[in-house]
Amino acid sequence: MLKGQVALVTGASRGIGRGIALDLAASGAKVAVNYQASAEAAQSVADEIVGAGGEAEALQADVSQLRQAAGLVEKVQEKWGRLDILVNNAGITRDGLLMRMQEEDWDEVLAVNLKGYFNCCKAAFRAMARARSGRIINITSVVGLRGNAGQVNYAAAKAGVIGLTKALAREAAGRNITVNAIAPGFIDTDMTRVLPGDIRQEMLKAIPLARPGYVADVARLAVFLAGPGAAYITGQVIAVDGGMSM
Ligand code: NAP
Repeated sequence: MLKGQVALVTGASRGIGRGIALDLAASGAKVAVNYQASAEAAQSVADEIVGAGGEAEALQADVSQLRQAAGLVEKVQEKWGRLDILVNNAGITRDGLLMRMQEEDWDEVLAVNLKGYFNCCKAAFRAMARARSGRIINITSVVGLRGNAGQVNYAAAKAGVIGLTKALAREAAGRNITVNAIAPGFIDTDMTRVLPGDIRQEMLKAIPLARPGYVADVARLAVFLAGPGAAYITGQVIAVDGGMSM
């Protein structure tokens, strides 16, 4: 379905990004597997793709740094000569109630989870505009739609991603580039495994489908949004949350 296409997935060494990278590759795309610190994990994602007969490369970059994001996109283009799909997924949490939240907790979360998306969109947009074709998929969160106590930094960043998605969708439409956001709910990854048991239980109670989401639940939608079936969908925020945000 995505044969001949080139995808860049940020934060693809683990969790949701890893799952999206593997599924895009299984659909035929060549995949750049970005990571910040987990070199071995990212390499094993790339090896898994190559082992299954695909093409992939693990590429280190801190997406919160504009220059590094630009360098990342350059490397993808040097290797494969194009960039068709950008999945902005790299994210961090630094949770705490507002009264106790440190300035650095705010700055770091905004830098990775919002500015990082701006940086990668900016770097990728030129290649897509030249090709008059492209797909940008931004991973936001139900927390960006509904808020969550203890996450003012994360909620602000994720709500910001929704604004970025809609504004860029309007800018990019004339060049045949679609921009959409996926808002996962409570997905079983490293990010949620560190939560205390009582908070996990509380979150599970708020899910009508009564189970945590799996990486595959999110990855499937990302592949659809990257594919031909989603050509007429842009500027949308689609929740994958077992009904949590309805
Ligand atoms: P995760 O398992 O903690 O993985 C985070 C990924 O982001 C890792 O690959 C990490 O790379 C990468 N990363 C972090 N900072 C980076 C930076 N500055 N530059 C480049 N890469 C960086 O997280 P996840 O649960 O899969 O979450 C993925 C995305 O989904 C995030 O945007 C998150 O906010 C969103 N989300 C998650 C949930 C959930 O329930 N899990 C729900 C809603 C939304 P290293 O391995 O190198 O550190």
